Amino acid sequence: MPFVLAADNPLQPVIDVYESPAFRAGVRLALLLVVVLWLALALWVYKDARRRMDDPILIGVAVAAGLLFPFIGPFVYLFLRPPEYLDDVRERELEIRLMERRFGGAEVCPYCAGPVEADFIVCPSCSTPLRERCDGCQRPLDPTWVVCPYCAARPPARA
Ligand SMILES: [Zn+2]
Ligand SMILES: [Zn+2]
Repeated sequence: MPFVLAADNPLQPVIDVYESPAFRAGVRLALLLVVVLWLALALWVYKDARRRMDDPILIGVAVAAGLLFPFIGPFVYLFLRPPEYLDDVRERELEIRLMERRFGGAEVCPYCAGPVEADFIVCPSCSTPLRERCDGCQRPLDPTWVVCPYCAARPPARA
């Protein structure tokens, strides 16, 4: 009797396909691929976030979003992530600092162009004398000053 019913059912070929081992294996494979893709995307978020962010909490939030919201989390992260790699940011800051040294900003030694501070007596790179000390207070004097601004003593040569 059940055999007759099954044969009469017009949807039986569809059910046969649905219940076939090949179909089930296919569904399982598709699920596996989805899970692998989900984990791979979360891993990608982690690797990418580490290159762009310093803060371990922010990195954790990004990875958690990637895991808790499969596919949507990494997609949102793609738009919210910092636009630059940390390495690039550091490199650019270093370049800017170097440029500031060479063009105005910080002072340079007139002999070797090494970086010097305004109150250096000699250049730390080439030991060229840069300034005299005040006779009164021993502070470094700018060569253009005619009087010590700290103790009002006059440098002997220009008194
Ligand atoms: Zn020098
Ligand atoms: Zn002085």
